[in-house]
Amino acid sequence: MDYIFVLVLGLLIGSFLNVCIYRIPREESIAYPPSHCTNCKNGIKPYDLIPVISYIFLKGKCRYCGQKISIRYPLTELFTGIIFVGIYGHYGLSIEFLKFAVLACFLIVIGIIDLDTTDIYFKTTISGVIIGVIFLFIYYFKGDSISTYILGALIGGGFISLIILLTGGMGWGDAEMCFLAGMYLGWKLTALMLFLSVILGAVIGVLLIITKKKSRKDYIPFGPYIAMGAMIAVFWGEEILRWYLL
Ligand SMILES: [Zn+2]
Repeated sequence: MDYIFVLVLGLLIGSFLNVCIYRIPREESIAYPPSHCTNCKNGIKPYDLIPVISYIFLKGKCRYCGQKISIRYPLTELFTGIIFVGIYGHYGLSIEFLKFAVLACFLIVIGIIDLDTTDIYFKTTISGVIIGVIFLFIYYFKGDSISTYILGALIGGGFISLIILLTGGMGWGDAEMCFLAGMYLGWKLTALMLFLSVILGAVIGVLLIITKKKSRKDYIPFGPYIAMGAMIAVFWGEEILRWYLL
């Protein structure tokens, strides 16, 4: 029962993330106006806003003008739902669940916007950092040490900054994103995230060039790899570190 609740919560929040992913690069408010068709501007009725299900009933088309709705919207909802269930299965009902679910939301929004536009927006990373500070306060008042999270942020942001200064590759948005993720992950999982994202970026980048999907000159956004590396760290980080260090 609780898994169903977490899944539905994830689907609903995934629906909101879609709004963020669409509107933030267009400099539109994420709160106003309410959801509408981007083609005919008709408002979308609540019964057409049910995550995934409405898409299936509408056969992927706007009820009013028939404009095709991208399959990416229900997929993002489903993906967010599955990620939420995964985090819940791993961490149970805890502050960690809440914290990593929030982190996942930021990673999904920042990663997909970066994929679309090759830009990472400061307003998204700074929002993640501000909420991260709130979690640090919660840990602090619970009497937990917060030094690992501060160190994580510094290692994440510092490592990418160093790459930028030394090679000119990557962008400051990537450094902000790793600072943000490091703050939620703590230093060990941050180190793992950096390692995984560089490996994933290199392997997938080479595959994209071999299959001619991208040329050597194309800018390949790094944000999606940071997001993948961070999520792998959330789900399997402890196991990987234990296996790797033994
Ligand atoms: Zn329409």
